[in-house]
Amino acid sequence: MVKICCIGAGYVGGPTMAVIALKCPEIEVAVVDISAPRINAWNSDHLPIYEPGLDDVVKKCRGKNLFFSTDVEKHVAEANIVFVSVNTPTKTQGLGAGKAADLTYWESAARMIADVSKSDKIVVEKSTVPVKTAEAIERILTHNRKGINFTILSNPEFLAEGTAIKDLFNPDRVLIGGRETPDGQKAILALRDVYAHWVPVERILCTNLWSAELSKLAANAFLAQRISSVNAMSALCEATGADVSQVSHSIGTDSRIGPKFLNASVGFGGSCFQKDILNLVYICECNGLPEVANYWKQVIKVNDYQKTRFVNRVVSSMFNTVSGKKIAILGFAFKKDTGDTRETPAIDVCKGLLGDKAKLSVYDPQVSEDQIMRDLAMKKFDWDHPAHLQPLSPTTNKQQVSVVWDVQEAVTDAHGICILTEWDEFKNLDYQKVYDNMQKPAFVFDGRNVVDVKKLREIGFIVYSIGKPLDS
Ligand code: NAD
Repeated sequence: MVKICCIGAGYVGGPTMAVIALKCPEIEVAVVDISAPRINAWNSDHLPIYEPGLDDVVKKCRGKNLFFSTDVEKHVAEANIVFVSVNTPTKTQGLGAGKAADLTYWESAARMIADVSKSDKIVVEKSTVPVKTAEAIERILTHNRKGINFTILSNPEFLAEGTAIKDLFNPDRVLIGGRETPDGQKAILALRDVYAHWVPVERILCTNLWSAELSKLAANAFLAQRISSVNAMSALCEATGADVSQVSHSIGTDSRIGPKFLNASVGFGGSCFQKDILNLVYICECNGLPEVANYWKQVIKVNDYQKTRFVNRVVSSMFNTVSGKKIAILGFAFKKDTGDTRETPAIDVCKGLLGDKAKLSVYDPQVSEDQIMRDLAMKKFDWDHPAHLQPLSPTTNKQQVSVVWDVQEAVTDAHGICILTEWDEFKNLDYQKVYDNMQKPAFVFDGRNVVDVKKLREIGFIVYSIGKPLDS
C-alpha cells in the first residue's frame, strides 16, 4: 500500500496533499509540520489558510485517508513517498544574503528523514529549490543512512494562491524530474501513477532532475517578467496618453504573446516571484553569468519602481504632502482570494505613505489586524544593499495605522483611497456613498485597475488608474 507523508503543512503542502487524498482514496496521506498551531488549525473548522474550495476537499478526506499531525518522525518513517514542502525563503545573512535560497529547513528535513528511515523511500522535492539541490539532498541522505535506498525526485508545484484547488484539480502540467537510472525511472513511474488518478498522462511531463528544478524557477521568472514588462509599459502609457488596457489587449491578441498575465498593477507580490528570481540571479552569478543575472534583476527593479512610482503619484497628486491626511487602503493581501501578505506590494506602498506621515485606515476582508501590524513593523530588506535595513518602529505604526472591518469606515473622512488588492467587492462599491463620506477633493488611486474610471470621475472623484490617461 502506498503511504505518503508531506513535511510542511503550508500553502503548498496542505492543499496539494488534500487533493491527492481526495483523488486517491486508497492512499493514506499524512501532512506533518513542526508548527503545532498550524496543525491544530488544519484539524479544526478554521483552516490556517484561505483558499476557495479547500474547506470542502479537506472535510471530505480528513480522518479517512488524510491526517494532519505534528508527529513528523513517525509519519516519515512509515511512508514510502515523502514530499518535502518546507519554506525556502531568501537568505538574510551570510554568503548569498539577499539572493540565495535559505535551505536550512530543507537540510534539517533531509537529516531527519535519514535519521528515522528504516525502509527505502522516494523523497520528492515539492518546495522550490535551486537547481542541483537534489545532489546535495542525495548526499545528506545516503551519507547519513547506509543500506537504505533513497530516490530523489523533483516535482515542483505550479499552483497559484487563490486558485490552488482549481489548479490542482486541472493542472496545465505536472512536472516530475528524476535521475536517468533504473531507480530514478522507477520512482518517476510510481509518482506518475499517483497523479494519473486524475491528471491525463499527456500532461504529466517527465524530465531529468535538473530540468525540473530549473523549470520552476524559470516559470516564475517568466511570469514575473511579463508583469514587469506590462508595468514598464504602463509608465510609458501614463507619459504619452496611451491606455495600458488597450495596449495589453492589442498585444495579447497576438497568439505568440497571448492574453494572460497582462494586467498592469501596482506590482507583483507573494512569497515566490521575488525570492525565486533572486535565487535565479544568484545561481547565474555563481555560474559566471553576470549579464544573465542582470537581465533577471531588472524584473525586480521594475517591480520596485512601480511601487515607488505609485506612492509618488499619490503624494504628488495630493498637493505634494499626505502628512496628517487619512488615506484608506483597500486590500492588503498580495492578490484577491487569499489572505497571504508575503511580499505584498501593500507593505511597500503603506510604508511609503507612512514615511510621508499619512494616517492609514486599512481594510482587507481576509487579513487580520495582527498580520497587517506585523508586516508594517517588519524591517525592509534591501537585497541590493543587504546592510541597509529600514525598520519602522511599531509605535509609529500604532499611531498612524488603524485596521478596520468595513469599507465605509475605512473611507469616512479620508482624503484619498488606494486600491491595492483586486477584491471583487471593490469593483461594485457604492462609490457615490463613498464620495459623500470623504474629504474633498476626493482621490482614488487604483493600483489594480478595478474601478470604472469614467463613472467615478462623473461622481466627482479625482482618479488615478495605473497606465491610464490622467484626464480622460
Ligand atoms: P509555508 O511557509 O506556508 O509552509 C512551509 C511549512 O513548512 C511551514 O508550516 C513550516 O512550519 C514547515 N516546516 C519547516 N521546516 C519543517 C520541518 N523541518 N519539519 C516539518 N515542517 C517544517 O510555505 P509554502 O508557501 O507552502 O511554500 C513551500 C514551498 O513551496 C516553498 O519552497 C515555495 O517556494 C514553494 N511554492 C509555493 C507556492 C505558493 O503559492 N505559496 C507555489 C509553488 C511553490
